[in-house]
Amino acid sequence: MTYIIAEPCIDIKDLSCVDVCPVDCIHEFERILIIDPEECIDCFAPSEQLLTTQGVRTFEELEGQACGVLTDDGFKPAAVKRFNRKPLVKLELAPAFEERTRYGGTRLTTRNISRFRRTIWATPTHAWLLADGERTDSLAAGQFVPSASVHPRRDSETYRLGVLHGLVFGDGSWNKQEIRSGQHLHYVQLYGERVARFKDFFDQVIFSPCLDVHPGYVGTGVVRASANLKRSLPETADVEYIAGFVDGWLAADGDPVKAESWRLRSTDHEALAWLEVAAPYAGFVAVGSGEESSVETNFGVRSRAIKWLYLATREVYWRVMSVENQEAEAAETFCAVVPGKHAFTLAGGVYTGNCGACEPECPVEAIFPEDALPEKWNDFVKINYAYGEGADVINQLTNEYATEHNVQNPPLEG
Ligand code: SF4
Ligand code: SF4
Repeated sequence: MTYIIAEPCIDIKDLSCVDVCPVDCIHEFERILIIDPEECIDCFAPSEQLLTTQGVRTFEELEGQACGVLTDDGFKPAAVKRFNRKPLVKLELAPAFEERTRYGGTRLTTRNISRFRRTIWATPTHAWLLADGERTDSLAAGQFVPSASVHPRRDSETYRLGVLHGLVFGDGSWNKQEIRSGQHLHYVQLYGERVARFKDFFDQVIFSPCLDVHPGYVGTGVVRASANLKRSLPETADVEYIAGFVDGWLAADGDPVKAESWRLRSTDHEALAWLEVAAPYAGFVAVGSGEESSVETNFGVRSRAIKWLYLATREVYWRVMSVENQEAEAAETFCAVVPGKHAFTLAGGVYTGNCGACEPECPVEAIFPEDALPEKWNDFVKINYAYGEGADVINQLTNEYATEHNVQNPPLEG
């Protein structure tokens, strides 16, 4: 468990914490309230991914580590932890958008034609945030949850370097690795409106007369880097770099579609799979995907089919399409503990709550995450964990502690 109720609650018991607990796991005893460690904080499967300052990572990979997680207020410090084994449910979410109704109001609707889904394995009583700002611990089909994404600066040096990477990745060529400097040399042909807009991003542009045949050819941009940019994705780069990379790749291989959205086409299926989960770093949310049926081109048959990803910039919500009980065995569960925010973002931009809701409610600061419990109150780990042993044990342990430490908490005023 993560939360412990400690000494300041003894004989105070004002119950402020009880109502906010989404899983009703705070229980009253003679002189204190106790959190049931079996129930407190319900979470996700180990393989579920979340958006962190270290890239898109699974809970399992981050176990026990401190990291930054994406909230609706930027990245916040968090700790990823392993919790009890619990049965999990499979949630299927479909992208939804706000639309005007005939009567002047708004409503959230899914696109019927979209088969795009995000699948999430979570405990059935995980604390979710809903699109209307409420929280629930029993997410059901038909409800909507919000999305979150970053809005990075697009004018920094980091962004410029990301754009160059994206242009090379989408439409450039690797030329050679220089022996003396070890640097990789890449070329990007600058023609067409979209690429011309990035001309000034290059340190060096050379003019190659043989490429003059391309309409609007303005030169060949040279990009030097310590790695082969044609083969690498910026999986753990800064968000400004990732935003640049995505903008560069879209300029090379994307087509603008309505509502400032983009359709990105590529035969690099692995890169598209990464972008599907990482797009929120660049301010997009992937809301559609597919594969083109024809592999014929003017130059012969492609070795791999073209896949595409539809990236939206407008506000996206997720409609819960189904919550399936898979009758699976109980699995290890993980969650991110985000002090103060109690929310974070899963891969693909699904914004979720988690717990810690009781902590700020306590007027005497008696509630702590287990790892932040002041050492002098370590005995309360044992007292909270004794929940399963019944009221007599808890009452006895509390009395012993209160006598030994001569606890005399003054009653709350008012
Ligand atoms: S952290 Fe959340 S689940 Fe745990 S006791 Fe507090 S309110 Fe309940
Ligand atoms: S809010 Fe604090 S003092 Fe009140 S019952 Fe809960 S833990 Fe005890």
